[in-house]
Amino acid sequence: MSEQQEPCSLLIEGAPSTCKQCSIRLCLRQQVLNLALGFTETMQCLNCLARANGKDAAEMLDDLRIYIYSRECFKSQWVKYLDESYCPSPKECYPSVCFAESETKEL
Ligand SMILES: [Zn+2]
Ligand SMILES: [Zn+2]
Repeated sequence: MSEQQEPCSLLIEGAPSTCKQCSIRLCLRQQVLNLALGFTETMQCLNCLARANGKDAAEMLDDLRIYIYSRECFKSQWVKYLDESYCPSPKECYPSVCFAESETKEL
């Protein structure tokens, strides 16, 4: 693990890489959010997921993150993003929520 990986190479292979609603590029964490919700064939970005669920995107991300951390299979993907610089589309994401007090960070 000496070479730095390209963020896009971290995407889940075989999973959709764009939002079916607005076609923006999904990042790895957005893919994991979809998996956590049971979506594998088509995926949506966080903003579209939140809209579909009538929730605030940051709130939804926070809820799902707790669930993701409780499942080893999701968590192992999720933690591949070590910090905010891994997110390819910080404008579409919520890095401040996404990377808030994760288990790997000390308080
Ligand atoms: Zn979208
Ligand atoms: Zn992201």
